[in-house]
Amino acid sequence: MVKNKIAIVTGATRGIGKEIARTLAQNGANIAFNYRTYNEEIESFINELEGFDVRVLAFKCDVSKEEEVNEFIKEVKNRFERVDILVNNAGITKDGLIIRMSEKDFTDVLDVNLTGTFNMTKAASGVMVRQRSGKIINISSVVGVAGNAGQCNYSASKAGVIGLSKSVARELAGRNINVNVIAPGYINTDMTKVLPEKVKEEVLKTIPMKKIGEPKEIANLVLFLSSDLSNYITGQVINVDGGMVMH
Ligand code: NDP
Repeated sequence: MVKNKIAIVTGATRGIGKEIARTLAQNGANIAFNYRTYNEEIESFINELEGFDVRVLAFKCDVSKEEEVNEFIKEVKNRFERVDILVNNAGITKDGLIIRMSEKDFTDVLDVNLTGTFNMTKAASGVMVRQRSGKIINISSVVGVAGNAGQCNYSASKAGVIGLSKSVARELAGRNINVNVIAPGYINTDMTKVLPEKVKEEVLKTIPMKKIGEPKEIANLVLFLSSDLSNYITGQVINVDGGMVMH
């Protein structure tokens, strides 16, 4: 489905992004991913990906910093000559009720989740426009659609990702570039492990399928949206959430 394609996945050092990179590599895509601090886990992940007989580039880059993003895309271009797939997955949370939230906690989350998506999309779409093809998949959240108490910064950033994606989908549709959004529900990763048991129990009650999702659930949809099977789909938000939020 994506054999020999060049895919960039942000935030692939852990969680959902790692599974997305693994799934794309298993299906033959060459992978470029960013890291912030190099460690042995990253080295063993590079080895794992190369085991799928694909080429791998790991590059130090904070997505909230425009210059680092431009360097990252430049390096991808040097190494692979093109960019077929961009998955904007890197994200953070800094939860708190609005009355107690500092402006820094608000802007930090916006900087990574929304500005980071903007930086990467801008830099990669320059390459895609020239080659007249591409797939951009942005990871939002059900919280960006429905809101969540204690997450006004995070939900604003994720709602922003949806607005950004729909606008860019309209701008780039004529160049054969698809831009779609995945809105995961509650997925089993480091981000959700830290939640108190009581909160997890409450969230479970809101999921009709009565189970927490796994990163693979998101990676499978990324694979579909990265492939030619999704060529006539653009500007859409697709929830992967066990029925948590229904439109
Ligand atoms: P994790 O916390 O497990 O992983 C986050 C990843 O993002 C890490 O690889 C991290 O790198 C990277 N990252 C964070 N900040 C930056 C930055 N400034 N520049 C570059 N990379 C960065 O998160 P998940 O896997 O759970 O989440 C992945 C995405 O899915 C996020 O966008 C999240 O908001 C979204 N999502 C997750 C849900 C869930 O239930 N887990 C639900 C809905 C959406 P490092 O290792 O260096 O920290």
